[in-house]
Amino acid sequence: MAKKNQCDMCTGLCCRYFALPIDTPEDKGDYDDIRWFLCHKDITVFVEDGDWYINIKNKCRYLSEKGHHCRIYNKRPRICRQYSHKDCDYVEGEYDFELHFTSTRQMEEYIKIKFDNKRTEKQKAKKKRKQ
Ligand code: SF4
Ligand code: SF4
Repeated sequence: MAKKNQCDMCTGLCCRYFALPIDTPEDKGDYDDIRWFLCHKDITVFVEDGDWYINIKNKCRYLSEKGHHCRIYNKRPRICRQYSHKDCDYVEGEYDFELHFTSTRQMEEYIKIKFDNKRTEKQKAKKKRKQ
């Protein structure tokens, strides 16, 4: 997995979730689809370098009970082999998400600000023009 002493001190943080890229949302419906993801337990959605990801918190079945070692270390998948401990989850300050949604409420508020407030502004502008 990685440098021995560092992983020994860790509880296998990198083996407790996986994240997959998702389409960048464009319209209100797309954002509502993401809200649907967030309705599910242990799901979060984040944006990093402009790309959107769904994060699934689900422990790998091969992580040892105490979380200190991989039970299929010699046969671990490519993704695990390529994962670098140098910038892993254990290293503080590594992640700098532009956005991180952990609840449906956060997404509802985001949708409101992004779409509904804009519409209100447009409506106000229209009204002003009519006066
Ligand atoms: S998060 Fe880092 S330190 Fe922890 S097990 Fe994974 S590679 Fe090792
Ligand atoms: S296969 Fe091993 S290294 Fe890969 S996620 Fe599972 S426990 Fe971690």
